[in-house]
Amino acid sequence: MSTGLRVIIVGGVAGGMSAATRLRRLDEHASITVLERGEHVSFANCGLPYHLSDAIPDRESLLLHTPATLAARFNIDVQTRREVLAINRDAHTLTVRDLTTGADADVPYDKLVLSPGAAAVRPPLPGVELAYVLRSVTDLDRLKVAIAERGPNVVVIGAGFIGVEVAENLREAGKRVTVIEAAPQVLPPLDAEMAAPVAAEMRAHGVDLHLGVSVQAIAADSITLADGSVLPADVVVLAVGVKPEDGLARAAGLDVHERGGILVGSTLQTNDPDIYAVGDAALVKDPLGRDAFVALAWGANRQGRLAADHIMGMPVHFGAHPATAIAKVFSLAVASTGLSERQLRQQGIEPVVVHTHPGSHAGYYPGAETIHLKLLFDGNTGRIYGAQAVGGAGTDKRIDVLATAMHAGLTAPDLADLPLAYAPPFGSAKDPVNMLGYIAQNLLDGVSHTMQWHEVEGTDRMIVDVREPHEFAGGALPGAVNIPLPTLRDHVEELVGHKVLVNCQVGMRGHTAARVLLDAGIDTVNLDGGYLTWVAGRQSQGA
Ligand code: FAD
Repeated sequence: MSTGLRVIIVGGVAGGMSAATRLRRLDEHASITVLERGEHVSFANCGLPYHLSDAIPDRESLLLHTPATLAARFNIDVQTRREVLAINRDAHTLTVRDLTTGADADVPYDKLVLSPGAAAVRPPLPGVELAYVLRSVTDLDRLKVAIAERGPNVVVIGAGFIGVEVAENLREAGKRVTVIEAAPQVLPPLDAEMAAPVAAEMRAHGVDLHLGVSVQAIAADSITLADGSVLPADVVVLAVGVKPEDGLARAAGLDVHERGGILVGSTLQTNDPDIYAVGDAALVKDPLGRDAFVALAWGANRQGRLAADHIMGMPVHFGAHPATAIAKVFSLAVASTGLSERQLRQQGIEPVVVHTHPGSHAGYYPGAETIHLKLLFDGNTGRIYGAQAVGGAGTDKRIDVLATAMHAGLTAPDLADLPLAYAPPFGSAKDPVNMLGYIAQNLLDGVSHTMQWHEVEGTDRMIVDVREPHEFAGGALPGAVNIPLPTLRDHVEELVGHKVLVNCQVGMRGHTAARVLLDAGIDTVNLDGGYLTWVAGRQSQGA
């Protein structure tokens, strides 16, 4: 293919470089220029937090390319410290400032790809200018110097994915780390009960976590919270979210969402067919078809490539974005895909909810770790809305299988049919993902009925805990009576006439117990996810 097009790309990291390199691979003769405001291109933003602890010891390994290597390998003209100030759509030119000399110039384009990313949100707090952010290698260098030169007390504001990663790595670097989060939980993409074990893990590793409280002011060596407490803070890192860099597009009259973010179609074109927008700056469609802001690397890379394909005349379609995400939080992997229960309820959707707590592999093979799994699906069609996973080994694999199933349009019962690889060190013959399918099928068929952890309080059902006495003694639902599953059949007569809620530790023995009682004509529901989910839910409420 040879178009001779002049293509300019604004932003030289994830989306921008994906577009640039794909274009070159498709067209040896196009003129491809990348304009990057910062000092570096093609760096590994996702790796930045790990250099704070030296988990990634070599700073240079974060710099995947330089303008020189990109010129040599791809014949791409990459210019750093060049800020695009304006898009002159009628003239098909950009106004570009050389940040070294201060000189402005007009640069012509035939096709333009915007990949300017997102900017850190800086709330209007007194002293906010004292806080550090982590978006670029330059930010990383500044923060590394600060934590090396100042005292040991670091406060991270915000417990989203980046805040949590920064907190972990600074803790690993030996700092005294405090995290402040205005929401009542960490990692807001998760539902509260799924986030509870993550908060516990952070606390167990010495992170001082303050949830449900906001920051009022930042000073040189302290931070003041809205509840009046003052905490020592030698270094403050701000990680309260990002907003799309849509100023250029807005000023040029491109369609921008009222809450921010460039609007594009499935071809990644804006309302100007010669201008594409990809990555964090462009909005996507969520699984319900609503405009959504998703700041994740997969989308930026995929969209960059697809924009290049479309420029070269190939048919493309970027569909719904499930925002599949994962983070390491000390020994836990924390992952989600699709919509949370909170998001669904906000849209008036009442999903079917399943919690399970399987082992990462067969229990008889040493070293299995628990994975807390949550699946959300439609009670009529079985359509999967989303899933969350928190746990040890194999957590990433399960969320990726679930994301793939969602993308392929599989229903929740279809998960039982997935022929997944199995040997004892890796999984189970009924893999945790298969088990979600079995449970979903039972619920849809009416073979089982469940109650959620937050519905227990105030229930008029008799609560029958079918765990062993030593488990019951370690903690139980208020008012529960203990009838261990092996003895349950001897007690059926006593339960006739009652409405019963059965519970066990994770929901499996409870399911068997519920089947025994239902067969005897007793109105019975099983506590979804068992005692473990109930405890996590209560912890998420501060109990
Ligand atoms: P970016 O990669 O941010 O690149 C945008 C570039 O455009 C910037 O370098 C900026 O300087 C430049 N620019 C902006 N305006 C102009 C202008 N007017 N002129 C010239 N240049 C301009 N995602 C994951 O999926 N997993 C992770 O683990 C993960 N971890 C992350 C950790 C950190 C610390 C950060 C910061 C991000 C992380 N992300 C992660 C998010 C991911 O990096 C982004 O979603 C992705 O980089 C977005 O790509 P982009 O091309 O849209 O923007």
